[in-house]
Formats: sequence, structure tokens, C-alpha cells
Amino acid sequence: MDILDSVVIGAGQAGLSASYHLTRLGIRHVVLDADDRPGGAWQHRWDALTMRDVHGVAELPDDAAPPRDDERANVAVPATFAAYERAHGLPVVRPVRVDRATDDDDGILVVHAGDREWRTRTIVNATGTWTHPFLPHYPGMETFLGDQFHTVDYPGPEYFRGKRVLVVGGGASAVQFLGAIAPIAETVWATRREPVWRTDDFTPEAGAAAVALVEQRVAQGLPPESVVSVTGLMLREQEREAERLGAYADRRPMFERIEPDGVRWADGTFERVDVILWATGFRPAIAHLAPLHLRSAAGGIQLDRNGRGTTAVADPRIQLVGYGPSASTIGANRAGRAAAKGVQRSLATRTVPAP
Ligand code: FAD
Repeated sequence: MDILDSVVIGAGQAGLSASYHLTRLGIRHVVLDADDRPGGAWQHRWDALTMRDVHGVAELPDDAAPPRDDERANVAVPATFAAYERAHGLPVVRPVRVDRATDDDDGILVVHAGDREWRTRTIVNATGTWTHPFLPHYPGMETFLGDQFHTVDYPGPEYFRGKRVLVVGGGASAVQFLGAIAPIAETVWATRREPVWRTDDFTPEAGAAAVALVEQRVAQGLPPESVVSVTGLMLREQEREAERLGAYADRRPMFERIEPDGVRWADGTFERVDVILWATGFRPAIAHLAPLHLRSAAGGIQLDRNGRGTTAVADPRIQLVGYGPSASTIGANRAGRAAAKGVQRSLATRTVPAP
């Protein structure tokens, strides 16, 4: 069977950037993507999220960023990605959901999707986090009679009108949901840790410092935290009405258990709620890489260059982009370039199996 020089898994911002740079370096590859259409995770964002609401989508290499206007993000970004794939002739194959990557005895990697397989010398993993939502478990969760949503299935603010809503989570999504829901519903906010608010402007230096914190974790092989979780929270114009209504001031530490009509706080008092919205984040979607044994004893995948690189320390044939410090659109772009160089290095140093 034909052996490719690289297989990129995932066609979001990270995968497209990697494919662009691989193409420029003349490296023969395919991009396998689980979705039916271009757009990565952006095609699945809720309808109410406009380009003005997003924190900022960086441009892909050699392209312009989608405009910050009132267009829906789940339309504008997929349209930009689709045009980009066409303009640069990127070899995306979809829908292909990779279920496993293995190493055969002659040093060739095999990427499996059902009964299809691709043989390759290197892999660039760019599968993001959207397909791996994190839902913590609390006692009594299954007894709750109201609705529970995770960020992945957020139905938009109108669904919550007139209800009593518990928003769980201390990240940017929780802040954004409260901003949209508090003006039309009663809200309660619960977080595990005291939220850290930024009052200063979010300068490039502050961004770099936040990314450096995630790099340190990845350098030690720890599971990465999201970049947003270390940047601190900020309120934007869209959230000022909710702030005025006290939605952020009234934050509680996590409840102890869930009951059919609400939650029980640690002090024994009960809170009736109609809906629980779990804005509890995501984890890297990397289960398909398990057979390659890349994880360190600390539970994460250690990357080279003190966590600033994209090459897996455990196996330099594997690059990870959009993982840890590069899990933002700007980070994913840069990582795509670094990964293509990493692939080039790996191909140059490979030992040719004896005939
Ligand atoms: P994705 O866009 O998730 O693309 C991954 C691709 O891999 C998908 O197409 C998927 O189908 C495919 N895939 C997954 N598993 C497999 C598999 N097993 N086989 C084959 N294909 C697979 N970042 C910003 O910079 N600005 C923002 O404003 C911003 N807003 C955000 C809002 C939310 C609600 C969330 C959750 C994240 C946000 N981020 C933002 C983070 C941002 O989404 C990511 O950093 C970036 O878009 C992720 O790009 P990616 O290419 O790594 O992953």
C-alpha cells in the first residue's frame, strides 16, 4: 500500500494551517476530517454567537481573518475555511473519523477509520477539543427533573427566558452565557474556584504570559489547561447588562449534590432551579492516539522545546497542534507551521528500513 509522508487528523484552524505549510514544503499528505463540511468546531457553535461576540478568530496563513460583524460565527468561519481549502487545494478527505493510530513493525504509522486505513511516516494531530466535552459528576445528577445542557448543546438564550438557570463553570463560556441569559431569566452562578477577573487591558504581553503557563504544564507532560483558563476573565460590552443585574456578583462555590428540583449547597440550604447549564469545558480529543503510548506518567503528552514545540517527546514522528499552548486560533496557526517543520525534520532523519 502507498505510504504517505504525513497524515493530518482534523481540518480546523490547526489542521488547515499545518496542511498549508506541508503543501508549501512539498510534503505529500492527506487531511482526514470527521465532519461532513469545512469549519472545524466553528460549524457547531450556537446560532446566537455572532462574529462580534467571539473573542477573535485569527486569520489562516496567507489569508484574511473573517470580518467582525453580525454574521453568525457558525456560518462565517466555515465559509472562510471552505474558501481556504479550495484556494490552496488542500487535500482534505471527509467525512473520516479516525478511531485509532498504530505503529507497525517496520516503523510505519497506520491511521485507521473503520475498515479504511492510511499508511504514513508521520502524523500531525489537530483534533481540537470540541468532540470531548468535560462533564463533572455530582451525586444525584441523574435524578434532576429539569434540563441539563453542556456548552456543546447550548440552545441559545431564548430557551432560558423566564426560567431559573444555574450556570456552572468559571471560564469564558460561563461569563458569556450569563451575559446573554441574565437579562431574560433568573440566574445563579456556581464555580469550583473563585473567578479571577482581569481589570487591565489584555495586552499581547499578558497573552504571552498566559500561554507560557500552559507551556510549562506541557513541558512537564501534565494534562494541559485551556489557554482561556489562565488568561483571567473580562467583561465585554455584551455582558454589562448582566453585570448591572448582579449576575456575576452573586457567584457561589459548588453545590454538594443535585436533587430532582435543584441543588443542595454545602451549608445545607436548597436552591430550586429549572435548568443546569454546564459550561465546564473540554479536554483534548486524543483517545485515538492511545495505541502510540504518547502520554507521560503525569497524564499529558509532553512536547519538545520546553512545551513551546509541537513534537511529541515520546515519538518525534507525531506532531500535536491546537493542543495545550496552541489551543487558540492564533496559537493553532503558529503551531501548524512548526508542525510542518517538525514533519520535515522527522522525514530527514528517518532510518530507511532494510529491503
Ligand atoms: P477544531 O476547530 O475543533 O477542529 C478539529 C477538527 O478535527 C474538527 O473538524 C473535527 O471534526 C476533527 N476531528 C476531531 N476528532 C477527529 C477524529 N478522531 N478523526 C478525524 N477528525 C477529527 N479561540 C480563539 O482564538 N478565539 C475565540 O473566539 C474562541 N472562541 C471559542 C469559543 C468556544 C465555545 C470554544 C469551545 C473554544 C473557543 N476558542 C476560541 C478556542 C478555539 O475554538 C480553538 O482554539 C480553535 O478553533 C481550535 O481549532 P482546532 O483546529 O484545534 O480544532
